[in-house]
Amino acid sequence: MSKIRTVGVCGAGLMGNGIAQTAASAGFDVVLMEVADAPLQRGLASIAKSLDKFVEKGKLPQNERDAIVGRIKGTTAIADLKHCDLVIEAIVENPEAKKSLFKQLDELLAPHAIICTNTSSFCVIELAATTKRPNRVAGLHFFNPVPIMKLVEVVRTIATTQDTIDELYAFAKTLGKEPILAQDTPGFVVNRLLIPYLLYAIRCYEGGLASKEDIDKGMKLGCGYPMGPLELLDFVGLDTTYYIAQIMFEEFKDPMMAAPPLLKRMVLAGRHGRKSGKGFYDYE
Ligand code: NAD
Repeated sequence: MSKIRTVGVCGAGLMGNGIAQTAASAGFDVVLMEVADAPLQRGLASIAKSLDKFVEKGKLPQNERDAIVGRIKGTTAIADLKHCDLVIEAIVENPEAKKSLFKQLDELLAPHAIICTNTSSFCVIELAATTKRPNRVAGLHFFNPVPIMKLVEVVRTIATTQDTIDELYAFAKTLGKEPILAQDTPGFVVNRLLIPYLLYAIRCYEGGLASKEDIDKGMKLGCGYPMGPLELLDFVGLDTTYYIAQIMFEEFKDPMMAAPPLLKRMVLAGRHGRKSGKGFYDYE
């Protein structure tokens, strides 16, 4: 039986607001914490907009939408997380900011509380080591957009205990997600397989194997993938992919994980994909 009733989420950005919405939709009381009022209000507005879309499509009654919004308390005071049974950190991908937050959370929260990170690239044990409860620290890696994507990677460090994993599995299922268990190594399961594939697609394009359109068409029609690799790179962000590849290469020293020269040059040129208006394709 899970003891999780109140969920704290740190960071109301893309991932944090999606996690808060998903937890509140599953009936949990949520405390959503930000560094300042402006990003907090942006996060809350984004939740309201997302829920309104479900209402418009007839997938969510208006009164339930209002009840979900009512279960989310926004704050800029970390002390408001005090009574949370689980806190999920989804702040900027900066190790010093995350370590400092983990230390503060450890001092604030009750001993039974679990602290998780949604990091895509850092060592979870490095964050756990800043606390006095490394047995109650794990990764809980959601996928974007959180309310839609079914998968959650539960990341076990060398110090995470089985009861913590069991509670996180139960929590993920209550959210309507499917958990998978991954060890605490860069990329976990999904990016460990996806990043080398994306990098290899860039190598093929760079080497003149085929046009970008044909590489994408090949993988969509030949493998049934919803997006080709170069389209997917534009969607994920070339800067993000480059960053994750560097961390994975540093850890494994596997040439499959080394960023191809073209990727580096596109990132240097500011061609980050959809978000910058230009990547392999034009979005302007
Ligand atoms: P984002 O930039 O959209 O949001 C981060 C938010 O954290 C910002 O609003 C910022 O104001 C806030 N913040 C910074 N310091 C804070 C603090 N000390 N306390 C509270 N809030 C703070 O970032 P994002 O894309 O939502 O990513 C967040 C985390 O999720 C990262 O660790 C990232 O690796 C991970 N992640 C991202 C994706 C993705 O597709 N973007 C997918 C899986 C995991």
